[in-house]
Amino acid sequence: MPDIKLICFDLDDTLWSTKQVMMEAEKQAFTLLSQNATVIAEHYDMMSLFQARVKKWKQLTASHPQLKYQISQLRRQSLSLVLQDHNFSQSGADQLSDEIFQCFMHWRHKPIYFEHAEETLAQLSEQYQLAAITNGNACSKRLGLDKYFTLHISAEDLGIGKPEPEPFVHTLKHFNVKAEEALHIGDNPSDDVLGARQAGLYTIWYNPKSNPWKEADYKASLEVDQLNKIPAAVERLQANLQMKP
Ligand SMILES: [Mg+2]
Repeated sequence: MPDIKLICFDLDDTLWSTKQVMMEAEKQAFTLLSQNATVIAEHYDMMSLFQARVKKWKQLTASHPQLKYQISQLRRQSLSLVLQDHNFSQSGADQLSDEIFQCFMHWRHKPIYFEHAEETLAQLSEQYQLAAITNGNACSKRLGLDKYFTLHISAEDLGIGKPEPEPFVHTLKHFNVKAEEALHIGDNPSDDVLGARQAGLYTIWYNPKSNPWKEADYKASLEVDQLNKIPAAVERLQANLQMKP
C-alpha cells in the first residue's frame, strides 16, 4: 500500500478562528473608511455597510458569474459601488476602496492561531510535504507559513475552489503524488471532507467543538478535535493502510 506523502490543510477555521480575524479586519477597515469618507459614517454603521456591500457583491456575481471565486476583487468592487452610490466618482471610489482593502488585508493576516497550530505544522513538515488549499484570501506566505507549506493554492488564483476537485488535483500534480498518497485536513464537511474524498484523498475532519457528523452519505477517514492530534492520526491511518491486503 502507498504511504502518505502529502498533507493538505485548509486555512480558515482550521488554523485560526475566521470570525475573530474577520471581525477585527472589518472593524479596522470601517474605521479607516469612516475617517476618509464622512458620508459613509453618516449613512452606515459597520453592519449596515456590510449588508450594503453584500447586496452589491450578489449583483456583481449575478451579472459576472466568473467573479464567483474572486473574493478580493468582489470586496474591492462592492465597496466601490457603494461609494459611487454616494456621489464618489468611479476613480475616486476605486482608489479609496483599494486603500480600505489593503487595510483589511493587513488585519486579515493577523490571526490568532488555534492551540498547537504552528508546532503541529512544524512537526508534520519534517516528515511530509505540506500544502495549503483555501477558498479564502489569507496568504500562507504573507503569514510566514511558507516555511511549512511548500504550495499555497487559493480559489481566486485557480479560478475555482473547494469542494470542486480542481484544487486537489492541481496540488497532487504539483507534488507528483497519487490521490491515495495524500490527505486533506479541514473543518468544513463539504468543502474539505467531501471535496477531498471526491478527488480520492484521505481526509481528516478538524472538529474542535466535537459537533456531531451530519452527512449520511460520506464521512471523513478520521476526525480530530485538536490540531496536535493530527500526527498520531496520520500514523494510525498509515498503519491501517499497511494492514489492508
Ligand atoms: Mg475552513
